[in-house]
Amino acid sequence: MKYIQKSVEPNSLSIWKIKQGDKIPTWKSFGRTVIKGQLLETLLKEQGYICCYCGVAIDKGSCHVEHFKPQGIDETVRFDYFNLIVSCQGEDDTQPRVPVHCGHKKNNWYNEKLLVSPLIANCVDFFKYSAAGEILPTEESSKKLPAETTIENLSLNIPKLQRMLQAAIDAELELLGNDDFNEEEIRNIIKDYLELDDEGKHKPFCTTIVYILESYYL
Ligand SMILES: [Zn+2]
Repeated sequence: MKYIQKSVEPNSLSIWKIKQGDKIPTWKSFGRTVIKGQLLETLLKEQGYICCYCGVAIDKGSCHVEHFKPQGIDETVRFDYFNLIVSCQGEDDTQPRVPVHCGHKKNNWYNEKLLVSPLIANCVDFFKYSAAGEILPTEESSKKLPAETTIENLSLNIPKLQRMLQAAIDAELELLGNDDFNEEEIRNIIKDYLELDDEGKHKPFCTTIVYILESYYL
């Protein structure tokens, strides 16, 4: 999970919201507006085109706007820009792709104390990873239960995601090969993983790779 630093609400969304007055349109009707497409583009850019929960690469066709606090339990957050992020597995939440994970798996589950939010700066500290691609809760007592519960309720440790994480880890380790990188070189590689590339994208699973590099190479 990578921290998502929210920017400012796009003007087009602010103006659209003012036009709606007191009524809260349905998400389905919003989906037919041009504003929805623009919003999606802004959110994808904000996140560097990776899923808010698992870190897989996403684009306009393979993601959905995720309400961190579900609109199903509180419709007032439906168009709150600071509640909107982007998750993997496409738009369709009635027939999501299987195995279901991340936003579609979370669905209407929400627990302020037990759901780790990618909108808090230290979200990365809740999780650790094995070289085999498992996501695990940290041992730190105040963070362990939220981490465990989040992994469980979002199905973040399913074999599919483990396999993808392991492939990403293996690819990086293969690049490092047997060369003897010094600490400064490893730190530069880590820095590279934390920054956006020239197309404004993050590398998929970047926080996992950074964790592995920091744990085993520094
Ligand atoms: Zn995901």
